[in-house]
Amino acid sequence: MVFDEGGGCLSRLFDFAGGTGMGYSQPEPLLSKDKVALPSNLMRKALPRWPRLSEPEMVRHYTWLSRRNFGIDTGFYPLGSCTMKHNPRVNEVIAQLPGIADIHPHQPEHHLQGLLSIYHEMQHMLAICSGMDDVTLQPVAGAQGEFTAVRCVQEYFRKRGETQRTKVIVPDSAHGTNPASAAMAGYDIVEIPSLENGRIDLEALKAVVDDTVALMMITNPNTLGLFETDVPEASEIVHAAGGQMYYDGANFNAILGRTSPGLMGFDAVHFNLHKTFSQPHGGGGPGSGPIGVKSHLAEFLPSPVVKKRPIVGDEAKFAVDDMWYTWYEPEHTIGKVQQWHGNAGAIIRCWAYYRRYGYGLKDMSEHAVLNANYLRHALHREAKKADVSHMFVDGAEAEVAKHEFTISLQPAKEAVGVSAMDVAKGLLDLGYMAPTVYFPLVVPECMMFEPTETESRDTLDTFAKDFAQVLKVDAQTLHEAPITTPVRRVDEVYAARNLCLKHPFDEE
Ligand SMILES: *Cc1c(COP(=O)(O)O)cnc(C)c1O
Repeated sequence: MVFDEGGGCLSRLFDFAGGTGMGYSQPEPLLSKDKVALPSNLMRKALPRWPRLSEPEMVRHYTWLSRRNFGIDTGFYPLGSCTMKHNPRVNEVIAQLPGIADIHPHQPEHHLQGLLSIYHEMQHMLAICSGMDDVTLQPVAGAQGEFTAVRCVQEYFRKRGETQRTKVIVPDSAHGTNPASAAMAGYDIVEIPSLENGRIDLEALKAVVDDTVALMMITNPNTLGLFETDVPEASEIVHAAGGQMYYDGANFNAILGRTSPGLMGFDAVHFNLHKTFSQPHGGGGPGSGPIGVKSHLAEFLPSPVVKKRPIVGDEAKFAVDDMWYTWYEPEHTIGKVQQWHGNAGAIIRCWAYYRRYGYGLKDMSEHAVLNANYLRHALHREAKKADVSHMFVDGAEAEVAKHEFTISLQPAKEAVGVSAMDVAKGLLDLGYMAPTVYFPLVVPECMMFEPTETESRDTLDTFAKDFAQVLKVDAQTLHEAPITTPVRRVDEVYAARNLCLKHPFDEE
């Protein structure tokens, strides 16, 4: 509760505003001011300058804002690599149950048995899906999961006295977060080129592997949407030199229930729960990036993880099943990577998604792969019909893609001066979120599509037709696109360099 110098709590703002133009009300404070002795240097000197608006004005403002936004609930969102799937509303219902939403993470264990049992089940389920032995749910993003795992590996080698291991290997198709995470942990990055067919070059790998390598980081299927068939060999090469293998699990949507990083020979992996298990994301969060590790790394995980043990004494009164769930601190823990216990809301929603599927998770990944391949063929089919098939080629010559695929608009660029960015902006005018552009970097004028399993065949067919129509639009018009969106083409570099995130009070 914040008090102003005058001795009132914030609800006094009502009086200040004369009871008009206030679109909110504050509850009465639970404790009177003299019972909460806040140091005077922490007290507000002046009332906060909040905008004074009535409730209808507030409602209109936020509704207006929401209508200027694009989201998975407003249209097709084939943003490759990001796995934008429908977020079932049942997840929200479960996350908002009072026994989940109204607890504080600092409550004692016997208050938290329900939540801890969910955490434990989620850890267990992720361990099974990934073929790992232990899991932490603490990291709140895939990138943070990567960093956490890299740190566990680093401590593992420190403890073994192998401090000469200063290098991390990444293929050139890797997501930018892989080298970034390794560099943050202080490693030198060694990039190896991919083969013509987009896959790992084992000879290039052999050439750089020695006893100074700590880790190799691989995404499988890789960022071109191709399954890396040589991963077991890569893993043998790295392990033979004493290194560790890291699996970037952002693309789990393609393999869940089919195979696992454990089977492929990996030692550690992260999940992007917000991608694979449906959790609204984008615009910076909230996410969840649990990691799984093999047993030799388990005692380095961030603390705490949830374990279960037999019930003792009158714990039975509070237990939710025949075991007791308890926080556990791994012996050589790298510490904490997040306050409390990760993004509980995101973990619960993703747990709800997984419980709804159960063993059907296997069908989920199958449908994701089917939809991606269907869309890839539909794009070619519609392009042919519209006579624009010369405008793009596949980004990787694969018979079957996994849950996402790339195309290159280099031919369009050369023939008529239309870039991947122009086509992306043209799609916005037709009411679609554009696919990912210019990633992965190894494909020129790249566009990357990921429809996910939650889209219908009708949606994919209509999108493919519309895509072909955009390719028919003349270059000059496409350079001007988008024209129907609230904001036209923005200068992204300027926006990133000159962040403006606060209300410009002083200019009023
Ligand atoms: C999304 C993604 C990441 C990073 O995950 P965040 O949750 O955005 O931090 C890492 N690798 C790949 C391949 C990804 O697609």
